[in-house]
Amino acid sequence: MRIAMIGTGYVGLVSGACFSEFGTDVVCVDKDAGKIDRLKRGEIPIYEPGLDQLVAKNVKAGRLSFTTDLAEGVAGCDAVFIAVGTPSRRGDGHADLSYVFAAAEEVATAVDGPTVLVTKSTVPVGTGRKVKEIVDRVRGGGDIEVASNPEFLREGSAIEDFMRPDRVVIGADTDEARETLRALYRPLYLNETPILFTALETAELIKYAANAFLAMKITFINEVADLCEKVGADVQQVARGIGLDGRIGGKFLHAGPGYGGSCFPKDTLALVRTAQEAAAPIRIVETVVEVNEARKRRMAEKVVAHCGGSVEGLTIGVLGLTFKPNTDDMRDAPSLAIVPALQQGGATLRAYDPEGMAEARRLLDGVTWCQDTYEAIEGADCLVIITEWNAFRNLDLERVRGLMKRPRIVDLRNIYKPEDMAEQGFDYLSVGRPAAP
Ligand code: NAD
Repeated sequence: MRIAMIGTGYVGLVSGACFSEFGTDVVCVDKDAGKIDRLKRGEIPIYEPGLDQLVAKNVKAGRLSFTTDLAEGVAGCDAVFIAVGTPSRRGDGHADLSYVFAAAEEVATAVDGPTVLVTKSTVPVGTGRKVKEIVDRVRGGGDIEVASNPEFLREGSAIEDFMRPDRVVIGADTDEARETLRALYRPLYLNETPILFTALETAELIKYAANAFLAMKITFINEVADLCEKVGADVQQVARGIGLDGRIGGKFLHAGPGYGGSCFPKDTLALVRTAQEAAAPIRIVETVVEVNEARKRRMAEKVVAHCGGSVEGLTIGVLGLTFKPNTDDMRDAPSLAIVPALQQGGATLRAYDPEGMAEARRLLDGVTWCQDTYEAIEGADCLVIITEWNAFRNLDLERVRGLMKRPRIVDLRNIYKPEDMAEQGFDYLSVGRPAAP
């Protein structure tokens, strides 16, 4: 089979490479000529573990190629996937569908025969029907089927997630569309992946409901963490105590600085807007959005309080800027709220992130960018751990203490034990856990 992937970002590139690994011929198309040039030279424009080998292997095998020419890419394809961005529309929080509709129009104009046009981007309920209208308008009806196949991969473990998903969701109206997608995902039958066939609308909503539920779970444990801090309980033990209950499950119960990233913030907001417009508001998600926004700002206040009520004139070392480890993605990262708030408080910031620095430099001003962990810590009055990269989990604490002006740490990811830090002489604050006695 042959497919095209329109949009070669975190989702399009990973999905394209994985489909080619399954034995399908894949052409990845992107408007960004710089991105396609780099891919043609064998460079991977994003950081995603294992992606460089997977891409190289399948390019070498002749199953994976890259182009900026959409017409060339979609020629002779059994299916064309749209994997372009759907960011929040400025001002109202709705998903901006202009990239999706533009791609649909371009594909409908360019395809040379019957195909299935599959939306992999996260799009609000009703988008698939609008894509169908565009396609029928451009082609005068008929030979293009429309389907929805939302993607659930996570940055940082994207290849494993795509190859061994908990489920695949396919929204389609016709047997032709269902059969094409079933054939593309056939390799997953081997590991008995559940494949759900639904209507377009249902598939679209499954994606938003899943992301909103996960965002809600994180926000729930974050608020429990706040309560723990007031009453002397330990949120990690609470999380374990509830997570062992099979009805609750232990995942997504790590208290921290609030969720960020390229999906949860925009998808929760878009679901809120969709639900309000449908006159079926989802009030619990409205609250999740509000609580999470406020939380990111409050994390800076937590640092200020730990520094005695003011950071004016202080040097603060920051470890981790990306919204989570193992990615270079900075979209809506908590650091983007925390760092400027500390600067406004009068602090000088020194920061290091293993993969996110190039992007962080574009988004944050006035930060001293450091080459490594220990350089960021040098001369700091306080160290703030924002992202739990493995590289920060096993610091040489004696060296850290020696480098700092004052041995003060705010660990927003709970990667150290309060008692160990107290023993090492640190004034240590974490999230939802009592200080060591
Ligand atoms: P991204 O910004 O990394 O990539 C999108 C790419 O599409 C860009 O390279 C852009 O140049 C390209 N593009 C835009 N319009 C185009 C057009 N008309 N023709 C060709 N290329 C075009 O985005 P992403 O993170 O990969 O997300 C894509 C979609 O997948 C979004 O809807 C997102 O919500 C969803 N999603 C993302 C993740 C994730 O972890 N990033 C996970 C699941 C779902």
